[in-house]
Amino acid sequence: MPVTHLDSLEKIVSLSKSRGFIFQSSEIYGGLSAVYDYGPLGIELKRNVQNAWWKAMTQVHDNIVGVDAAIFMHPKVWEASGHVEGFNDPMIDDKQSKKRYRADMIIEQHILKLREKGDADKADELQQLLDTSGTRKGLCEDLYDIIMEEEIRAPESGAFDWTDVRQFNLMFKTHYGAVTKDEDDVIYLRPETAQGIFVNYKNVMDTARVQVPFGIAQIGKAFRNEVVARQFVFRMREFEQMEMQYFVEPGTDGDEYDKWLEKRMEWHNNLGVRGELLRAEPHPEDKLAHYARAAADIQYKYPIGWQEVEGIHNRTDFDLSRHHEYSGKKMEYYDQKEQKRYTPYVIETSVGLDRTMLMILCDAYREEEVDGDVRTVLKMHPKLAPTKVGIFPLIKKPELKELAHKIEKELKEDFTVLYDESGSIGKRYRRQDEAGTPFCVTVDFDGLDDNTVTIRYRDDMKQDRVSVDKLESVIRDRIKNWKPE
Ligand code: ATP
Repeated sequence: MPVTHLDSLEKIVSLSKSRGFIFQSSEIYGGLSAVYDYGPLGIELKRNVQNAWWKAMTQVHDNIVGVDAAIFMHPKVWEASGHVEGFNDPMIDDKQSKKRYRADMIIEQHILKLREKGDADKADELQQLLDTSGTRKGLCEDLYDIIMEEEIRAPESGAFDWTDVRQFNLMFKTHYGAVTKDEDDVIYLRPETAQGIFVNYKNVMDTARVQVPFGIAQIGKAFRNEVVARQFVFRMREFEQMEMQYFVEPGTDGDEYDKWLEKRMEWHNNLGVRGELLRAEPHPEDKLAHYARAAADIQYKYPIGWQEVEGIHNRTDFDLSRHHEYSGKKMEYYDQKEQKRYTPYVIETSVGLDRTMLMILCDAYREEEVDGDVRTVLKMHPKLAPTKVGIFPLIKKPELKELAHKIEKELKEDFTVLYDESGSIGKRYRRQDEAGTPFCVTVDFDGLDDNTVTIRYRDDMKQDRVSVDKLESVIRDRIKNWKPE
């Protein structure tokens, strides 16, 4: 049976390991949960995604510039941002298995089960309770009450033997410098990259000669001590974000928010993922963070369901005002033309690099029947493919190898290429199909006479005979005009 959509992450996890996209961290020691390393193919894909984002967010805009802020920041930053006080998840432990869960997620799973059983009324009632939890007594007590009243059992052990629900701060804490360990030298690993942008807002304004509206973009690592992290690179404890904060005049924020939501949807579509698996989901007004005026998730239909890959937020002047308050430094903008002073509002676009990678891998994955055999192929956009061209001499004859190496050397200037002379041509094609390589070039004896080669396309497996001199332009054209199936 051909596979065009996955219903679990299993095949992606196993292909990622076998082909060198993604490995578990410290695997020889049994692994470190929710931390992953990118292998040779993974890092090429990752760089291509980063470059596509960087170009779309900086190069094509004359009013968006980049920064690369440090991971360590002054501890006051996280007080100002609200993370020390409020960046918590409610956790609960199953006393029997000693496993820890997110209390809200346990309830969500229970609601899903009720829906599967057809008990929609009860599911709706609980969903409403969950949505309003925390507004009556306190989040932890509310969640605990629901779990008790519904007699929800632990997913793995089946036990009904819970601890209380407690708040758990997701920031990783460590100590800074070689001084004694007291509270004064506590430092955090940043849980988001955005604050590195806000604290540099003035520096950028003073040096880059930008005027509102303008944006600051950044790609970097973020760390969250997630309570539950069992979904491959979807939810990690160390991950990478690509964020852009766009500073605008209050009053124009509504339009700018709409514009950025549209632009960011377009970017995801341009990555070549299937449009019907992407959607924008606005947050209902009563579920917005206290400082946000509007927010939406861009969601992809992963094998684990519709999930957020990017968040677009209208953060108002919350962050700049808080940094003004906590640092004592003015964060206002002076509009010389209009001769007025104000604290800009911020429209944030925040996309997870690892979740984008996972989206691309899941979207590209296909199993097809070819001559009674199964072909596994990653039909990703050729511009993202880790290796662009596989180059094969038909057999290991010196004259074929020589021409193949010559072509390899020429194409290397413009594309990532891979020379391979081992195994049958069919096997070499299959290896490249699994790696998502969009083009394979085979050098045969005819080519020695007329300087032509066979180029084979990954998606439809069709082949063309092309003059060696035209290879580069054929490949370029194909990359430019590629469309998802
Ligand atoms: P979720 O609700 O799924 O935990 P979030 O709303 O906390 O996500 P944001 O704080 O808006 O996420 O972060 C912006 C982006 O960073 C997310 O859209 C996601 O792509 C990415 N991200 C957040 N947490 C993680 C994580 N633990 N692992 C991988 N990527 C993450």
